[in-house]
Amino acid sequence: MSEFEKYKGDPNLNEKMIKIDGVPQDLGDLLTESIQLLREHEPEDGYYGCFSGGKDSIAVREVARIAGVRVEWHYHATTIDPPEVVRFIRAQGDVTWDKPRHGNFFHRVVQKKQMPTRRCRWCCQEYKEIRPACRRSMLLGIRREESPRRAARWPTPVVHRYAGPRTAIVPLLEWPTEELWDFIRCQQLKVPSLYAEGWHRLGCVGCPLSSEKNRLRELSRWPGFERNWKRACRKVWEAKTGCTQKNGRAWFGDAYFRRWEDFWHWWVHDVSLDDARTRPASARL
Ligand code: SF4
Repeated sequence: MSEFEKYKGDPNLNEKMIKIDGVPQDLGDLLTESIQLLREHEPEDGYYGCFSGGKDSIAVREVARIAGVRVEWHYHATTIDPPEVVRFIRAQGDVTWDKPRHGNFFHRVVQKKQMPTRRCRWCCQEYKEIRPACRRSMLLGIRREESPRRAARWPTPVVHRYAGPRTAIVPLLEWPTEELWDFIRCQQLKVPSLYAEGWHRLGCVGCPLSSEKNRLRELSRWPGFERNWKRACRKVWEAKTGCTQKNGRAWFGDAYFRRWEDFWHWWVHDVSLDDARTRPASARL
């Protein structure tokens, strides 16, 4: 039995938690606050928990278990998560697998004739930020330290009117990464094998929100995904080149990409459009 396990469901956990031998007080305080938050906002029919297989989801699930609150965990399958993460999620007995409404990610890119980009990340809405059918409060493993964008989007751990009428609870909002790993180690929680290989953030392979360095690393680690991204990119380029848009204008890419490889180069390397036009991929080969 782990240190925290002894106090599962204990209403006096507050005073006891910070005295646990070997547990840094900072972590004890963070955990106590998170537990209080979860208990305070627990809906009658339990939370709707979002589980992605990453360290934050794993930790928030454990905190909820210690707090003794009811949660129904869901994984929104993106079809482009690393296979190691998918296997890890499959091995969890308590996570419901929600298939994507729009099917395979790459088919959807071709169908929409649009590569997702940092400015137009339509795929997050369709594959990740799914609105559940129920109106229960949602539980998310979001932390302020992850990115300035997240910190700005989540000023407090309780956000009302998130995804329509639902409330979102993010109990790990203030947890620093180091304390999060301390907790995972302390609780001896299993995590996807990729962490042991030095990956820090797990998610969609080739995500346009990642840095160029990360994306290239991911695409070289999972070449099947790189092939699919390239195929989708070529098909989008073929479908859009020379076509008039709904707004009556030409596709912006006509002015910049003479070949699909130029479009790919711009997309994967995060170069500016001017750079893509003046130094196309074909000229770099
Ligand atoms: S690829 Fe990136 S932007 Fe698209 S769903 Fe995945 S995380 Fe969101």
